Amino acid sequence: MSPTQDTFPIDDVIIVGGGLAGLFTALRLAPRRVTVLTATPVGSGGSSSMAQGGIAAAVAPGDTVEKHLADTLAAGDGIVDAKIAGIMVADAPARVHDLLEYGVPFDRDLEGRLAVSREAAHSERRVVHVKGDMAGAAIMQALGVAVRNTPSIRLVEGYVGEALLKRGNRVAGIVARPVNGGPAVEFPARGVVLASGGVGHLFAVSTNPPESEGGGLGMAARAGAIIADAEFVQFHPTALDVGRDPAPLASEALRGEGALLTNRAGERFMVGVHPLAELAPRDVVARAVHAEVVSGRGAFLDTRKAIGAKIAEEFPTVYRYCLDAGIDPIAQPMPIAPAEHYHMGGVLTDADGRTTLDGLWACGETASTGVHGANRLASNSLLEAVAFAARVADNIRTLLPQAQLMDARVLADDGAPGPDAGDVASLRRTMSDDVGVVRDRGGMEKALRLIGALEKKNRSPRFRNSLTAARMIATGALARTESRGGHYRSDYPNADPAWQHRTFMTLAEADQIGSRVPLAAPVV
Ligand SMILES: Cc1cc2nc3c(=O)[nH]c(=O)nc-3n(C[C@H](O)[C@H](O)[C@H](O)COP(=O)(O)OP(=O)(O)OC[C@H]3O[C@@H](n4cnc5c(N)ncnc54)[C@H](O)[C@@H]3O)c2cc1C
Repeated sequence: MSPTQDTFPIDDVIIVGGGLAGLFTALRLAPRRVTVLTATPVGSGGSSSMAQGGIAAAVAPGDTVEKHLADTLAAGDGIVDAKIAGIMVADAPARVHDLLEYGVPFDRDLEGRLAVSREAAHSERRVVHVKGDMAGAAIMQALGVAVRNTPSIRLVEGYVGEALLKRGNRVAGIVARPVNGGPAVEFPARGVVLASGGVGHLFAVSTNPPESEGGGLGMAARAGAIIADAEFVQFHPTALDVGRDPAPLASEALRGEGALLTNRAGERFMVGVHPLAELAPRDVVARAVHAEVVSGRGAFLDTRKAIGAKIAEEFPTVYRYCLDAGIDPIAQPMPIAPAEHYHMGGVLTDADGRTTLDGLWACGETASTGVHGANRLASNSLLEAVAFAARVADNIRTLLPQAQLMDARVLADDGAPGPDAGDVASLRRTMSDDVGVVRDRGGMEKALRLIGALEKKNRSPRFRNSLTAARMIATGALARTESRGGHYRSDYPNADPAWQHRTFMTLAEADQIGSRVPLAAPVV
C-alpha cells in the first residue's frame, strides 16, 4: 500500500513486523481483520528468513515435552521461567503442524515421518528442518504466500515504526514513516503487536539483517514498558569472518558433524578449554574464539575431514557463503569470529504476550517471555515466535473481538532526518567492543557515555530508538555484577547465586543508573 491521501483506512489491530512472529499472529487472527506494518517486504525481511537450523519440537518417537523442557531449563543457566517455557514446549508439536498446514515443506524420513536433527545441548533429535539448512527461507516463503492469500490481512510494507501513541497507560497506535523518509503517518489502533525482531545491528559484527536494530524494544521502553533481561545477548561463535555485513553464519550443525575449531597454527584450541571441546556450550566456544581472534592467532572452522565434499549438498547455504567470499571449504578452513546472534532480553510479556502497557502485545525476538533465561537453546527461537504469536492472537481475539476500521493520518512533514551513518557506525563499534562477548565496568561506562552523547546530538526518531535499546542492554549488563549464560564480565567472571533471577527495568530506571556513570574515564 502506498498512501497518497491525507487519511486512509487501516485496522484497529496493527502488527509491527513481517517476520515469523508478525505473520503467524496475523494468520492466526484470520478472519479477524488486522494490518501488518513492516519495514521490509513480507516473506523476505528479518532474521526469520535467514534461519538455517529449524524449529525445536518433541515430535520424534522417544522424545517428550518434559525432555525438551529440561534441556531448555539447563541452557538458560538457572533463570528460565519454567512455567512459560513449559507452555512453549507443550505447544511446539501443534505449532509445527500449523506450519505444515500453511505449506512449509519440512523434511521427512523414508517412512514419511518428520525428519529431526540434533543440535547442541539437545538431549534428543528434535529440530525439524527444510532441505538441510533452508528452514527459515522455506517457512517465510510459505507464510508470505499464505498472508497474501488471506483477505483479512492488510499489508503496509516499507514503513518503520518510530513511536507508540499513548492515551494514559494505554497504547493507542503507532507513528511510522516510509523507510526512505518523508512525512510520518499516525496509525491509531486499539491494539498494537510488536513483532519487530532483534537488536543485532546495534553491534558491529552480527548475523542479523540491518532491520534488526532494536526499534521495537526502543519504542516500548520510551513508552514506559518494562524491559526484561536486556543484558542477555547471545553471540554465535562461528560467523564467517569475511568482511560481510551481516556476517554469514556457519551453522552449529557443522560442528555436530565433526568440524574442528583451529587457529592459524592448526591447533585445536577448544581442547583443554572444555571437556566437550567443539561442542561446548555456545557462550564458552564464543569466548574461546574471541580470545584467539584478539590474540592475533586467528580462528578457523575446518570441515575438510569431517564433511569434505558433502558440504555442498548437506549445507548448501554455508557452502554458497564460502564460495561468494572466495573460500573453498572442501580445500581450506573457513575464517570465523563471534557475532551477535540473538537477544534473550526484550519487552517483558506474560504467557499471552501482553506487555506492561495496556493495548500493547509483543512476540518473537523483540519480546522477553522468560523462556530463554540467560541463554537460548538452539532452535527454540523460531519456536518461541510461533508459540507466543498464537497466544497473542488468541488473547486479542478474546479482548478485541469486533474489528473496527480506523483512519491513518499523514502528518505534516517535520523534516526529521534518518540515522546518521557515522553515528550508527560508532554505536555499533562500541557495542561490539565494550558490551560484547567479554565485558567489564570501564567498557560499559564508556559505551553509556557514547550513547548519552549520541542521544544529545541526534534528531532521528529511528536512531533514537536504537540508542534507547543500546542503553537498556548496556545498563542491564553494567548492573548485573556476575557472569551467567551469554553475559560474561571479566571483572566478575563467576556466577553469583544472589543474581540467580531475571531483571526488569524501565527506561527511567536505566537513566537513573546512567546518571551515576562518571562523566569521563578515571585517569590512572
Ligand atoms: C542467520 C540466523 C540463523 C538463525 N537460525 C535459527 C534457527 O535455525 N532456529 C531458530 O529457532 N532461530 C534461528 N535464528 C533466530 C531466529 O531466526 C529469530 O529469532 C526469529 O526469526 C525472530 O523472528 P521475529 O519474527 O521475531 O523477527 P524477524 O524475523 O527479525 O522480523 C522482524 C520484522 O520486523 C520488521 N521491523 C523491524 N523494525 C521495525 C520497525 N521499527 N517498524 C516496522 N517494522 C520493523 C522487519 O522488517 C521484519 O519484518 C537465526 C537467526 C539468524 C540471524
